Formats: sequence, C-alpha cells, structure tokens
Amino acid sequence: MKQNWSPTSWRAKPIQQQPEYPDAGALAQVEGTLAGYPPLVFAGEARELRRQFAEVTQGRAFLLQGGDCAESFAEFSATKIRDTFKVLLQMAIAMTFAAGCPVVKVGRMAGQFAKPRSSGNETVDGVTLPAYRGDIVNGIDFDEKSRVPDPQRLLQAYHQSTASLNLLRAFAQGGFADLHQVHQWNLDFIADAALTEKYSQLADRIDETLAFMRACGLENAPQLRETSFFTAHEALLLNYEQALTRCDSLTGDWYDCSAHMLWIGDRTRQLDGAHVEFLRGVCNPIGVKVGPSMDPDELIRLIDILNPDDDPGRLNLIARMGADKVEQHLPRLVQAVQREGRQVLWSSDPMHGNTIKATSGYKTRDFERILGEVRQFFAVHRAEGSYAGGIHIEMTGQNVTECIGGSRAVTEESLSDRYHTHCDPRMNADQSLELAFLIADTLKQ
Ligand code: PEP
Ligand code: MN
Repeated sequence: MKQNWSPTSWRAKPIQQQPEYPDAGALAQVEGTLAGYPPLVFAGEARELRRQFAEVTQGRAFLLQGGDCAESFAEFSATKIRDTFKVLLQMAIAMTFAAGCPVVKVGRMAGQFAKPRSSGNETVDGVTLPAYRGDIVNGIDFDEKSRVPDPQRLLQAYHQSTASLNLLRAFAQGGFADLHQVHQWNLDFIADAALTEKYSQLADRIDETLAFMRACGLENAPQLRETSFFTAHEALLLNYEQALTRCDSLTGDWYDCSAHMLWIGDRTRQLDGAHVEFLRGVCNPIGVKVGPSMDPDELIRLIDILNPDDDPGRLNLIARMGADKVEQHLPRLVQAVQREGRQVLWSSDPMHGNTIKATSGYKTRDFERILGEVRQFFAVHRAEGSYAGGIHIEMTGQNVTECIGGSRAVTEESLSDRYHTHCDPRMNADQSLELAFLIADTLKQ
C-alpha cells in the first residue's frame, strides 16, 4: 500500500467542489450500503487497461475516450447506450483501419454523474439556488427542493451504472461488436452524404479483408467477433468512490471498482487536495485534466505523486487548453515531461477549453475550434518528439444540435432544435465521425 494512504485518508485534506449534505447520518448510511454491494469492475480488468495504456504511452496504440458530459437518470435507455457505443465503434474502426494501430476504447459512461461547477450557486431572474452538481448529487430542475443534495441518489447512480455496464459488456462481447456487423453500426440519421460514403467505403474494405481471411481459414479469431470496452468517469464525489474501493485479494492492492479508469478534473487537481490524495492510492489507470493554469513544475510534482514508479500504463494527462491557447501552454508542459523523462499518456480533450455562449444563450462549442485544438495537439507533440496518444471527447449517438458547425452544419439558430444535454454541449454522430476521419488521416502520416 502507498505510504500513509488509506481509502479514507482524503478526508483529512482540503476538498473542492463538494455538495453540502443536510443529513450526515443519512449519507453515512448510504456509504455503508454501497460498501456492501458488489464492485462494478474487478481489479484484473483495471490491470488489463493499464497494460493497454502502456501500449499507447509507448506509441503502439491510440486511446479513444468519449461519452456524455453528464449521464442523467431521466435519459437512461438502451437506445442511448447503444447509439453512443455504435459511434465509438465507428470512430475506432476508422482510426484502426487507416492507421493500422489498435484503438483502446473507453466510455465516459456507466458512472459519469458528478459535475464540478464554476460557481456553487445559480441565479435565474433574481432567484439564487445551489448549483446542479449532477444527478448523483441533486436535481437539475430550478427549484429549492430539487437542488438539495440527496444521498439516495448515490444508490440510483450505482444501479444505473450497473445496468449500463451490463449492456455495454453484452454489446462488446455478445456479437454486436463483431466486425462482420460493420455496416450495421452506421446510424440512419448520419445524413452527410460524403461522410456516409466514406464510412461505407471503409466498411466495404473491411468486408473484403474479412472475406480474404475467411478464405485463408482465419475467420474464427476472437478479436474479430468481440471487442474490449472500458468505462471511466471523473472521480469527483469521493464518498461514492471510497465506498466502491476494494482491496484486491490477488495482489493486496486497492482498486476503485466504480470504473476501470478514473480521472481528476481541472478544478480539483490541487497537489495537497483530497482528490489527488484519494487517487494516488488506488491502482487503476488514472487521468488528470490539464488546463492552461498548469505550470511545468507543478505538473512534474503531480506526476511524482500520482506515478512515483514511472509506470507507462498509469497516468493519462488530458490536455484541455482551448484552441487559442494550445500553442502558448502545451509545449512547455510537454517539454518538462520530456526533460524529466517521465512516461505518461498524453491525450487531448478539445471540448472543455472551447465552450462559448451563443447569442441565443445556449452553451455551445464550435466544431472548427474542436478540430483546431486536436490538430494543434498533434502538431505540438510532433514538434517536441512526443507521442500524441489519444482524445477525450463529449459526444452522443443521438442526433443532437449542441455543437455548432460540422459538415452538415448546426447553426446558432438551430441549436434549440435538439439541445438535450444535462451539462456541456456534445458532438453528434456526424461531428464525431468527421473528427475520427481527421485523426485517422493524421495517424496515417
Ligand atoms: C468534464 O470532463 O466534464 C470536465 C468538467 O472537465 P474539466 O475538469 O477539464 O473542466
Ligand atoms: Mn463537460
């Protein structure tokens, strides 16, 4: 076990972004209940993801992370899970085929419920209420009752995560992700003709390859019939994370069994804070969001704390700078990591530094800026001799209009048509696939 660490040691540290529960006894009772429930994932799976992360860090694979900004209790259905999974499969196949490199798939799914907020309060028409912190904490409706943190929500989040993970495992291993189904993953509403054409050409080539393999007697490789899929979320509500943290009977190590991978948000990555303390002690692969306020020395100290053994599968630095800030802030961070010779997996979150408010009042992101940030992320790594290992995006398989732009352009005026997100604006299937083809081209080079 890590020095001076225990599953509860975070409680003695300063903590940001937490709700104030009106009844501490009720919260403790729920934590006790959760601690007695089965884990959602098991340690061996988290170790397998670490092995795959190490492949990415060493430049032999690419990491694709995606899903909702925030999952919600109301929008919980098999269709939504299936469609997001389909788009992730399509994106992965585009990158794998073009780049000839394996793609590690991680969903922001089955547990992504807690949200950090820029302000603890929200004011509408002169009325101020506590901010919405995600369905695991309180309700999104703007009334006093909804905004009171309710510990029972931790149990609902657990049960919803369990059901989602169950379906994702079935999809990944039960035939849905079979490469012979590659044509079926296309969503009917992908309306952009050029994109549909590009995808169906890709699917045809995969069909041909499969036919060739069948002719050679190679059609039964399990890799063609199933895929591996992992889950991740921001480890923000530590009461929940602690309750699902278990000691692995095989190794004696601690794992946070609420998901395969957990990450620390840009607002809660203080070196002496509770979130860094909690995650330094669990052996899952972990991520840290790295925004423009990160300084190179601080980054190295953070790496010292979170990855003291310099394990290539342990730490994913998720840069989220904003398209106009990448060139200014990312090179010195990459240089510091190179200079110190640290092994980390770099990925790009091109969403969170590019949020704007449309004149209509909707929070949105411009697809061109999302693409711009990814392009610059690749360029900086190329210039520094470092490997650009992955992306981390907010997307959905639903035909939403939340981010503006894309080949079938969503305009500021059409944002209201299908704006469904519970938190930040997500890319729809067209926009996600377009991004995947862009990355595929870059990886090929
Ligand atoms: C998020 O991933 O939804 C998020 C809040 O990100 P960040 O911590 O980078 O702001
Ligand atoms: Mn978000």
